[in-house]
Amino acid sequence: MLSGFSHDLVVKPSRPGIAVVWPVMRILLIEDDDRVVAALTPALNRANLYVERAATAAEALTKLDGVDLILLDMGLPDQDGLALCRQIRTASEVPIIAVTARREESLVVAALRSGVDDYVTKPYRLAELMARIDAVMRRFGKHAVSNVDEFGRIRIDAGSQQAYVDDSPVSLARKEFALLHMLVRSNGDLVTREAIMEAIWATSWIGASRTVDVHVANLRAKLGHPELIETVRGAGYRLARMGE
Ligand code: CA
Repeated sequence: MLSGFSHDLVVKPSRPGIAVVWPVMRILLIEDDDRVVAALTPALNRANLYVERAATAAEALTKLDGVDLILLDMGLPDQDGLALCRQIRTASEVPIIAVTARREESLVVAALRSGVDDYVTKPYRLAELMARIDAVMRRFGKHAVSNVDEFGRIRIDAGSQQAYVDDSPVSLARKEFALLHMLVRSNGDLVTREAIMEAIWATSWIGASRTVDVHVANLRAKLGHPELIETVRGAGYRLARMGE
């Protein structure tokens, strides 16, 4: 056990092979331009969207499983974006937002006919893209970016970026907020350190594990009820279930 974290409640996993629920939405970013990927990924992560990247159409087709939304660059090296879109549609109803530098009406119409749900033209503002993602997710009844999540005594409003404990607002730093949001979305199930590092710090570097622990310690202190977040020894964290 880490020393110095007196608030840690050590809880053994209640069952072996405990299910790890992925608490964030998964976006498949189909984009061949590394610079676009590097610019977009942190912004999407901050909105609690986990980014899976495919650099080609062929790679994209192998990564459709479990995806909540696709951002599709229409100019890919190996296949036309419209053709890829039609191919995805034979396998999946996942919402697709097309991104393109071309504005011709005929292309927009062709994209919509190929199964695209919305359309963003480059250059676009990040705020516009996020609003479109939110709108498409709402339309599909998926977990929208600005929804309210609740678990036990904690409520998270991702739209206003505000957390509440017992209906009282709690002031959190951005990463603390994202961390609490992940825990709330997993509904009391274990969230592993690895999942937290990947979603919030975009790293699988094991050395970042300590950073997660420090943020959890700060989060516990700010919540004013350290017992709300339980430590699962050697694995990660979860929210305390009421009445257990
Ligand atoms: Ca491209």
